[in-house]
Amino acid sequence: MALKALDIYKILPKKNCKECGDPTCLTFAMKLAGGKADVDLCPYLDDNAKSVLGATTRPPIRRVKIGVGERSFAVGEEFVLYRHEKTFYHPPGIIFKVSDRQTPEEITQVTVRVRDESFTRVGTMLRYNGIAIENASGSKESFARAVATVEESADLPLVLISTDPEALALALVQVGTYKPLIHAATPDNYKAMCALAKKHGCPMVIRSDTLDGLVSLAKACAAEGVQNLVIDVCAATLGAFLLQSTAIRQLAITRNVPELGYPVYLDTTRTGMQDAAMALGIVKYASVILTDPLSPEQAKAALTLRQNIYTDPQKPIQMNPGLYRIGTPQKDAPVLMTVNFSLTFFTLEGYLESTRIPCFMLIVDTEGLSVLTAVAAGKLNEFLVRDSLKKFGVENEVSHKNLIIPGYAAPLSGRIEEATGWKVLVGPRDAAEIGEYLYTEWKK
Ligand code: SF4
Repeated sequence: MALKALDIYKILPKKNCKECGDPTCLTFAMKLAGGKADVDLCPYLDDNAKSVLGATTRPPIRRVKIGVGERSFAVGEEFVLYRHEKTFYHPPGIIFKVSDRQTPEEITQVTVRVRDESFTRVGTMLRYNGIAIENASGSKESFARAVATVEESADLPLVLISTDPEALALALVQVGTYKPLIHAATPDNYKAMCALAKKHGCPMVIRSDTLDGLVSLAKACAAEGVQNLVIDVCAATLGAFLLQSTAIRQLAITRNVPELGYPVYLDTTRTGMQDAAMALGIVKYASVILTDPLSPEQAKAALTLRQNIYTDPQKPIQMNPGLYRIGTPQKDAPVLMTVNFSLTFFTLEGYLESTRIPCFMLIVDTEGLSVLTAVAAGKLNEFLVRDSLKKFGVENEVSHKNLIIPGYAAPLSGRIEEATGWKVLVGPRDAAEIGEYLYTEWKK
């Protein structure tokens, strides 16, 4: 059972020495209770206290970091079964898979795609996360050459796939400092794999096709001192993966089987139904998803789905408040005020671009609330508009003082006029009508 902050505080040393990075032991206890700190940060806890606190305060699914540097990513650290209960925190890494049977040119081409390709959706840059290299040839040397080929083109998070510890050892000589994820420890090789994981500080995949097998392996690896684990359930079908990954999440979240409290790995290339497997993995609990290189269309679908599932339902996607330009507006261009809810912004922006009338969009900070909600909640008010006009220097950009506000903000028009000294024009409620409005009302 999870401990409350005060129960945790009673176990802490109460030195208030700040060495854990928190100002007091109580603050640290509160973070532990929320699963937002690691017991290892306090150097004064004895083994008994660590094991009591660790079992109840660490996230039910461990956080595992893959790679180092700017492109590294974390997975796991999840607390709920359903996104609507709270949120999901760490989106799965989407990893393009290559094999050491491919030519260096083919491997480099895929690596460069992962390094460079991205697309932007609702103001967020979406990218793939890394490269997996499989030792399909069975040759240690070929594997090492393929790994070197990837490493020469980019510093990306890597997954090294081989059941031969010697092949992995040779590859890790080159890329061990980049902390790749190594795949996979099995009952036959786990001791040698744990030794490699410990030597290079790498996260490691454990592989079994049964939950009991995974539990045994996780225990055995923990006994070897390796707990930075990812679970490969080896499912042969999508149905089997769904059953296994859901069971793992349920058992981990309830902490009934803490040995399964690790992120899950899915290799979609084993399924023969990669698109479906990708979608299933994103929705149902895969944290590291391997795929053959995706076409641009497949990539957009996968990255968009991932963005949607991993958007916090409690926090609307927001734009930065500010003064945005549509085209090249001159001093007589219209100024349209609206809120910083991303959907509102991008909808209005799209319609404004299609009018081909250069203009300014004044985006005010309603903490991501839509116009109607922000008006009802009092977040959108005359003072916010006045301060935003001033803060973003709108008067310096135009030679008039006319402000178009959204139709749903009409009840505020008089108060905005009084507070700002600007003449307020009430625009349409529906952004789709903004073009007609500008041509009939602004240009008349
Ligand atoms: S390091 Fe330990 S003793 Fe020091 S403030 Fe943090 S929790 Fe308290």
